Amino acid sequence: MPDFTVAIIGSGFSGIGMAARLRRADITDVVLLERAADLGGTWRDNSYPGAACDVPSHLYCFSFAPNPGWTRSFSPQPEIWAYLRRVAADEGVTGKIRFGEEVVAARWDPAAHVWRIETTSGTLTARFLITATGPLSDPLIPGIPGLGTFAGAVFHSAAWDHDYDLTGRNVAVIGTGASAIQFVPRIQPLVSRLTVFQRTPPWILPRRDRQVSRIEHWLFRQAPVTQRIARAGIYLGRETYALGFVKNPGIMRKAEVLALRQLRRQVGDADLRTRLTPSYRMGCKRILISSDSLTQPNVSLVTDGIREITEKSVVTSDGTVHDADALIFGTGFHVSDFPMAQRIFGLDGASLAQRWSAKRAQTAFRGTTTAGFPNLFVLTGPNTGLGHTSQVFMIEAQIRYVASALQHARRHGIERIEVRPASQAAYDRKVQWKMRPTVWMTGGCKSWYLDADGRNVSLWPDFTWVYAWQTRRFDPPNYDLARSPRRALDALAR
Ligand SMILES: Cc1cc2nc3c(=O)[nH]c(=O)nc-3n(C[C@H](O)[C@H](O)[C@H](O)COP(=O)(O)OP(=O)(O)OC[C@H]3O[C@@H](n4cnc5c(N)ncnc54)[C@H](O)[C@@H]3O)c2cc1C
Repeated sequence: MPDFTVAIIGSGFSGIGMAARLRRADITDVVLLERAADLGGTWRDNSYPGAACDVPSHLYCFSFAPNPGWTRSFSPQPEIWAYLRRVAADEGVTGKIRFGEEVVAARWDPAAHVWRIETTSGTLTARFLITATGPLSDPLIPGIPGLGTFAGAVFHSAAWDHDYDLTGRNVAVIGTGASAIQFVPRIQPLVSRLTVFQRTPPWILPRRDRQVSRIEHWLFRQAPVTQRIARAGIYLGRETYALGFVKNPGIMRKAEVLALRQLRRQVGDADLRTRLTPSYRMGCKRILISSDSLTQPNVSLVTDGIREITEKSVVTSDGTVHDADALIFGTGFHVSDFPMAQRIFGLDGASLAQRWSAKRAQTAFRGTTTAGFPNLFVLTGPNTGLGHTSQVFMIEAQIRYVASALQHARRHGIERIEVRPASQAAYDRKVQWKMRPTVWMTGGCKSWYLDADGRNVSLWPDFTWVYAWQTRRFDPPNYDLARSPRRALDALAR
């Protein structure tokens, strides 16, 4: 008998949502392994000034746990983190989390049909393993020559050093992505000088953030259906964006006009405007939303490449030395190399990362299951990311699918589930075929969505309801299923 029927790695939206869903299906012999000291994932780690969601809050939350109390249309990080803690407590998940236990390896035991999981605190076994380690949970700091010699403070936006006082400092921010666009306007009034190093300009659309009114709060509490209607409206509005992303990227020109209008309004200097104007189709890289302007007297934008970092400065390719007391990296995360894949070892003893590199690409059936890795489900797996709407919608669809698989296993006494290689390959061909006309492949940019071979292994190339439809229930014909009359499946609910 394994120690647990289900082990979930991670306690962000995916891990909490998965455990809650299983509990509702009466599958309660579940443990969550979390390397950090608290739950919340993204929303625990990204506490930088100005951190907030960039998809409206009514949609960026679980459908089964609406929050009538969101204070803003794009709620700030502390509120989202508090929301996750509340949901975990209400759904009986918090008590199942083992904090401070990082999974260092998980190996499939083919004789016992269990996963043997090594954590920083010991070993345990589980019949089913679900990774919920997130698409953006391992910060990426580029290997710039000389970085180790820098004498001042150095940190990544996902590990903000709140003890370091930025007041009156010369600060260098490396990167102009989704996080930098949020914290730069917040730290600008504090610092003496802010030098922002930009590799490629992002497309920036106005951020229509506002306070949720008292009347709305009252209405959402008294008549919860009104909040569901608001959510549905946001969902439908966002799905129309998919037309431009995946069906006809030419449509994005209309949104580019909007972004260029904001840029003209904010930046008078023609040279700076040119350097802030993207040369690729909008959507090819992540679209940012902000209504803040970079044009402040203490801010300078540097677009030359970084050559090296010295004890007290950043040196660019043209030889200019930019003095700095602190370096803040807003350089994103390990995405296409999926760190957890290096720690999971399947049927033939090879890791998931090795399996994927042997196939020359990350693939997973329904973004979730991989041949050679029985009883493993990967949440936010290959091609389940989004460029236009709430990731939580995709997470919920996936969670439903996995719960349905486990319910099927319970019903039929199945102890081993493995996707058929042919089903996985056919699924991947279809995903990549749909991917071809998308803005991510045709938009003329190089983004973190693509792997080293230029394949988009990150994003879902269709409307999200198509994915939700495909994952509405477990589909046994795509799987090899092993029943065990000898070892009747451990009671899924103990
Ligand atoms: C700053 C920021 C803003 C974002 N804003 C939005 C937004 O507005 N809209 C949107 O749709 N998406 C947004 N995202 C994407 C966001 O990551 C997802 O929406 C969602 O939070 C992912 O949840 P998750 O549970 O899958 O992963 P995470 O929240 O990353 O949680 C993963 C958990 O796994 C744990 N873990 C990882 N490895 C191990 C291990 N080996 N052992 C044990 N535990 C481990 C981590 O500590 C973490 O707690 C944003 C991301 C970032 C970084």
